[in-house]
Order: sequence, then structure tokens, then C-alpha cells
Amino acid sequence: MKRPALSLVLIGLFSLSAVSWVVAAEKEATKSESSKAVATFSASGDRLLNAVKYLAADEQEGRGVGTKGLDRAGDYIAAQFKKLGLKTELFDGKPFQTFTMQTGAELGPKNEAALVNTGKEGKKLVLKLGTDFNTLSLGGSGKFDLPLVFVGYGITAKDEKYDDYAGIDVKDKAVIVMRHEPQQNNPHSAFNGTQTSPYAPYVRKISNAYEHGAAAVIFLTDDYDIQQRVEQARKRWLQAIDELTEATEKFKKIEKPTQAQTEEFRKESIKLTEAIGRYSKTLEDEYDPMVTFKGAGPGGESTRIPVIYVRRTALAEMAQDALGTDLAAIEREIDKGPTPHSRELKNWRLQGEVTVKRTEAQVKNVVGVLEGSGPKADETVVVGAHYDHLGYGGEGSFVPNAKEIHNGADDNGSGSAALLEVAALMAQQQGKLSRRVVFIAFTGEERGLIGSARYCKEPLYPLDKTVAMVNMDMVGRLTDNKLIIQGVDTAKEFDVIIDGLNKRFDFKLTKQPGGFGPSDHSSFYSQKVPVMHFFTGTHKEYHRPSDDVELINVDGMKRIAEMVAETTLAIAQADARPSYLESKRPAAAMGGGGNRPYFGSIPDFAQNEPGYALMGAAKDSPAEKAGMKAGDIIIKLGESRIGNLEDFDSALRKYKAGDKVVVVVKRGGKEVPLTVTLDPPR
Ligand SMILES: [Zn+2]
Repeated sequence: MKRPALSLVLIGLFSLSAVSWVVAAEKEATKSESSKAVATFSASGDRLLNAVKYLAADEQEGRGVGTKGLDRAGDYIAAQFKKLGLKTELFDGKPFQTFTMQTGAELGPKNEAALVNTGKEGKKLVLKLGTDFNTLSLGGSGKFDLPLVFVGYGITAKDEKYDDYAGIDVKDKAVIVMRHEPQQNNPHSAFNGTQTSPYAPYVRKISNAYEHGAAAVIFLTDDYDIQQRVEQARKRWLQAIDELTEATEKFKKIEKPTQAQTEEFRKESIKLTEAIGRYSKTLEDEYDPMVTFKGAGPGGESTRIPVIYVRRTALAEMAQDALGTDLAAIEREIDKGPTPHSRELKNWRLQGEVTVKRTEAQVKNVVGVLEGSGPKADETVVVGAHYDHLGYGGEGSFVPNAKEIHNGADDNGSGSAALLEVAALMAQQQGKLSRRVVFIAFTGEERGLIGSARYCKEPLYPLDKTVAMVNMDMVGRLTDNKLIIQGVDTAKEFDVIIDGLNKRFDFKLTKQPGGFGPSDHSSFYSQKVPVMHFFTGTHKEYHRPSDDVELINVDGMKRIAEMVAETTLAIAQADARPSYLESKRPAAAMGGGGNRPYFGSIPDFAQNEPGYALMGAAKDSPAEKAGMKAGDIIIKLGESRIGNLEDFDSALRKYKAGDKVVVVVKRGGKEVPLTVTLDPPR
């Protein structure tokens, strides 16, 4: 093989350390070629398939956070690590880095609300839970006795020159917010025509209310949406009646119907009658729809302001009294411009208390270690893959209402199985490794990289001695031999390794720049650990119940596991540790992309305090230049109060590149103002 010599000459131009990489890769290549083995390592397809089958079986309940199935999957991985001879007595003698995380929300014991007229009438309209109002899981708990302000759609849209909060003070008040946005049936509307604009989602409106200082939010459904839904329901109901009429007419035409014919029509008429009953119930409900506790979305933080949904009928009397007209009329006025028509509801207050119980679950990262020996034994290479998935659906699923097991064979049953296989292959090197190799199956990835963020917060081995992190997420659907490796530009030496190895593995390789992305490697890269992320691409079963074992390409997984093992070995055995590089591709996470100006903050998902917590600031970014750093919690951006990631995103959109904005961060218990000059979107 000549060529390698060529590469040797080329590499000579770089640091010495690079040379050792090539030698390692080349030696491996020659050895395997001479022994005709495809790779230094030979993975087992059976082992891989059995692992995916176990992890993606219905018994594991889609490995949802808070399910027993996830625990079983974690125990299974731990048992495999033990069987392979990895060190597993790591956390009080166990392989589990256990911690508590929020898994969802349940309605708490106390949920009361009343609209109180404090004027001469002294009227109290008590709202009935489930009939007149519902607490929404997106909000927090709290007792309230607040003045009321109607703020239209609750939208602040700078580019569209529309702001429902302009000229009205909602600080420490409850705001009444209509769902959706102005001019929904106008294709030329500034709000994305007839499509829903980014201002419409509940979370976005709660952020906007919170930013403006509101202490509670009341949602109601806009009249336009009701008219649409009623129209549809009425059509469906009438259609069902027509179907029964037709069937009746047809039956009546039979002169002497047989018993069989009568029975058939009788059964059909029951079916059609039941359908009529169902559609008429839907129609009745659509006149003034109710939103259920989780109907506005499953998420939410305990620190959030209270959020309730109230039916229009329950608000009508107060609206008429305080606004002198009905809400539908105001809505039409707003839509004309569109022009905001926000108003205080003099003499009216919202009183009550709601409780949203955050459900929590004990979850665990599963860790196994192969120690190194020699002068570099205190340096660590991490190989990781998340083992959680979406459970029975809901948050994150592309079929959110389907209460079905999301088996997650590819996402990330494949990565977890490959992690076990890489461990099995590396275990053959037991006692010959220069650096320690740590295998981590992360939990909570689907909820925001929670497990890897937790590990990086409380690492088992120092992160400054963690020389690289190799991640696998969705490696089970190799198609046309296409493999994506992200992060090759996060260390000077990675390119050479991957190119060296791929001479043999011969994947159609896409090397994607950047250390940040939608998987656990991001948590490590934000701590300046060089990372590589292996991925076979997305597919139409992604985040659906149909991501099943039958579709897994086992041979593809086998080759990827072998390549990851060789990559890991090359890093573990190299003379010098990889030299960290700041990728030219900025954090795709918060503070970049779309039409938002670039900020450069890196989110810390393992934080539950109110505010937007940072894992760090991207190099040379506006955030870094302003002096922002890991551990800072943003609580204010300009005039906007910031309670979480959504608030920060929503507030940032109100600025443009070049704007100077004062950001207040909480640091060491103090509030520190920092001035940030925003950059153009990236
Ligand atoms: Zn995944």
C-alpha cells in the first residue's frame, strides 16, 4: 500500500502526535489485511441483534423515563457490562449514576378559581374545575388574587409591528389570552398567512406573558377557531344523519325484507345512530371547547406562573361587564387591523389556587470501565449512547396522541447495543490499554440530554482529563452504505484517524463539522471535550411507534461497532491526547439559526432553577465577549423576565443583529448585568 506512505509525508507537516495516529491506523490496516480480517475487531451480529431485540421489546415499554421498562433496560446493560468483565462497582459499588428527574405533571389536590367583582356589586363567579376551567400542566402552582387584563392574542411581534402588550401594564396581574393569532383566514396576513405562525404556541404566549411580568395566564379559545370547528363538526354530524337516512330509504325499498336483511339494517342503524350521537356530542363540545390538563402540552416547570384555561361562557358575563361588549366582537376588531385591543378589566380580579404536581422518577446513567495502565492511565476516553426513548409516546413523538409503545429499535436501541458490542471488543484489550475507556449508557436524552448533562456536571473521572467522547445515536439503519460522523473537526487528529480507518471500512462517509448537535456528545463538547458522533441518518419511522427491530440493518451496525471500537482504540493508545479544536460551526443550540440574532449561549439542561442556565458560551460569541460563563443563569434580557429556555428564545427574537442589550445573570447568588452586542443570525 503505497498510498499510506504518501499520507505519511503529508502528515509530517503537522505535529508529531499526528504521525502516531497514522502509524496506529496503518499498522491496524496492514495487520488485518494480512490476516484478511476486515477489521481489527470482529463484531458479532447475533450479539448485536439480541441486544436490540431485548432493548426494543414491548416489555421495555419504549424505555420511557419513569417506566419500569427503562429500568429493566438499564439493568440489562449493567449486567452485560459485568459479564464482559468491565469494572462496574463505581457509584457506591454499583454501575448506576442515579438521580431524580422530572417526568411529567399531574393535577395537584387544590384547584380553585373565581372571577370576583370588587366593585359595588361584589359579585363572585366561582368557576367549576373541569366544567368552567382547567389547570394546565404547562403552568406552575400557586395561590393568586390578581387584577385582570385582557391582552388579545398575547403576542409581541416586532417584525409584524403588532404588540398586544404595548402601552398596557400587566406586571403582577393575570392576563387573559386568546389562542392562535390575528387574521387566520387571511392568506396575506402578516402572521404567516393562513399557516400558524411561531407566535401561536401556548408555551410561546406563556413566555411572552412572563417576560412582561404577568403573574398568571388565562387562556380561552378564539371565536374564529370555534367557528371553524363547529362548522366541521356540524358537517360531520349532518353527514352521519344523511347516511342513516340513506340506509333507511334503501331498507324501506325492500318489499318483504328477510329476517337477515332486517337484522343487517338494524345493526347498521345502531352503528349509524351511535355515530350521530358521537358527532352531535362533538358538535356540542365545539361550541365552547375545554382544554384538558395536558391538552396544551405535557411539559412545564414547577417554577412557572399558574396557567389555566377557561371556557368562553364562563368569561362572558365578566367581559360584558368590564369591556361593555362580548369577546367575539373585540376579536373581530383586532383582526381588522390587525390592531391590539388590550384592556384592563376594572374591578375584576382572578382569585384562587392551582397545584400542578411535578412527577419525578429516579433514573440512572449506566457506566462500565476498562482501566488503562501506564503513564496515561489517568486519562479517559468516553464511549456513549443513550438508552432511553419515548415510552408510550406523548412529548417528542411524531404521533403525540398515539398511546403506543415507541420501541425505538434504531433510536437508540441500536446505539445502546453497539455500545455493548464496542465494550465487548475493547474488553479483548483488557490490560493493554494506555488510557481508561469509560462506557456510558445515558438516560434522559429524549428529554434534553439530561443524563449526559448530569454526567458532565458530576463526572466519574475529571473532564479535563477526558480526552475524547465517541457517541452513537441511531446507527441501526445504514442505507446505501452512508454513514455520518459529526465532530471530526473538534480535534486536530480526528480527520486522519477516520480517513485512515475508512480506507478499510469503506463507508460513504459524511463528515459533518461541529461538536454540538441533538445528542449526548453536545454535553461533552460544551465542556471542551473533543467529540465524534456516529449516525446513520433519520428515516420515516423516527420518533414513531414503527421504529422496530425488523428494519434494523445488523450488518451495518456490526461494521459501525467495529469502526467505533477501532476509533476508540486508536485514541486510547495514541501517544498524545487529541488536541481540542473550537469548531467553526457555531452552536446550533440556543442563540443562533432562524431569524434570531446570534447570541452563542450553550444551555444546561440539568438545571431546574428558574431562569435560563448556561453550560457555557461558544468561543468568540457575543455571550463570551460579554463575559458570560458556565453556571450563569440568565434571568433578564432587556426588559424581558427570563424563566426558562423558551422565554430566552422568545425574548431574543425581539432583537436584531447589532443591538446592544443588557442581560442580567445570576452568578454566585448575585445578579450581574452584562451588555451583549448581538451578531447576525448564523
Ligand atoms: Zn436518539
